[in-house]
Amino acid sequence: MSRAWISELLALAALLLGAVLAALLFGHLAWMLLLALVLFLARWSVQLVRLDRWLRSRRRDPPASWGIWGHLFDDYYRLRRRHNESKKRLAAVIREFREATAAMPDGTLVLDREFRILWCNNAAVELIRLTNRSDFGQPVSNLVRSPRFVAYLESGDYDTAVEIRSPIDQSRRLMLRLVPYGNEQYLLMIRDVTRLHRLQAMRRDFVANASHELRSPLTVLGGYLDSMADDRDLDPAWRRPVRQMQAQCQRMNNLVNDLLELSRLETEETDAPMDDPVDMPALIRRLGRDTVLADADAHPLEIAIESEHGLLGVENELYSALSNLVNNAFRYSPEGRPVRVTWRDEADGGACFTVVDQGVGIDRRHLPFITQRFYRVDSSHSRASGGTGLGLAIVKHVLKRHGARLDVESEPGEGSLFRCHFPAERVCSTRGREQDRL
Ligand code: ADP
Repeated sequence: MSRAWISELLALAALLLGAVLAALLFGHLAWMLLLALVLFLARWSVQLVRLDRWLRSRRRDPPASWGIWGHLFDDYYRLRRRHNESKKRLAAVIREFREATAAMPDGTLVLDREFRILWCNNAAVELIRLTNRSDFGQPVSNLVRSPRFVAYLESGDYDTAVEIRSPIDQSRRLMLRLVPYGNEQYLLMIRDVTRLHRLQAMRRDFVANASHELRSPLTVLGGYLDSMADDRDLDPAWRRPVRQMQAQCQRMNNLVNDLLELSRLETEETDAPMDDPVDMPALIRRLGRDTVLADADAHPLEIAIESEHGLLGVENELYSALSNLVNNAFRYSPEGRPVRVTWRDEADGGACFTVVDQGVGIDRRHLPFITQRFYRVDSSHSRASGGTGLGLAIVKHVLKRHGARLDVESEPGEGSLFRCHFPAERVCSTRGREQDRL
């Protein structure tokens, strides 16, 4: 038992003892005891009133008292002081956070679980023109109405950012990223990426223009080299150099074509259209025929078409991506090793295109980088086999435009597996579509 309780009980005992002594002198024991209890209760009532007054008043120091009441006053005082200190600390943290985010050049908004605006910094006010306090409490999609952004909000996948045109100035570009935190709250970060976007566009234009300009001289050179190679009177000493020049000219042509294709894909900012059905079984059969023709039967090609489904997208882009994968399988497999191509439905309603080879394979540490432009595991093999270093970059862009994913599994010396997974919303019934069109 605490000291406070002991002194309180001692006080009560002293009062009762006083009552007994008084009864010995004056009689009326019961009345005397009752009087002692009333006195004790009166003290408790007075202390209760003092506690009540102190709680209501702004006075900081607790009223002076002893026994259990003194203990209660002190304990409560300590609690109140601790609470005030943590409130102050919290307020300081919030103030610092607000000052830091207010000074940030990027816009920051705090959203609730329904994406309603709870708070924002000055940069956000500028970037999406939050006009007044009435914008607070509104869903952010009322102010930023871009369908891309609305789809991003609804997707629930906030690992990446989304780029849109500014809602207040169409010539500007904004990058928005949602960061979930705490109890179903979100931070929406907005960055003006107009300058970066212009620089990227300049780079793309430069690459596209330079590639375009290189095309004509290359065609002329190629033409002359072809005629020289066909010339029966050509000095035999020149035959080998001419063949080498032809091969290099062809390489440069491939490079220019791939660069043009890549810059076209990069310029297309929207996803591939969903209204063109592509007959995938027919496309894969055509791809098989073309590849076998080009490779002169050096590798047996097995094609397993297990699904009659097609895809909604752009036929020549899909052809280009899938043929890059099949060509790679051929180029990175020793002669005679088979390549297997499969087209099948997936359990999630999507569809999957797979290329499996038994070629040189790729070491695990290279896998994260092979879709980067000009990344090659073995540069000499790539160049010798006519590679441009851009094939998988093209594949990545085409798949991204079709909402698809590329998975690669590979073991050095064993072979590789490239799997393109297309989402269910891209899959269509080719037969149904044919009938629709008839
Ligand atoms: P490249 O024109 O050099 O083949 P890609 O972009 O098509 O360029 O491929 C990038 C690199 O990935 C290649 O240089 C090669 O090292 C590796 N690679 C791609 N496909 C395969 C494959 N099927 N087997 C082994 N390595 C591959």
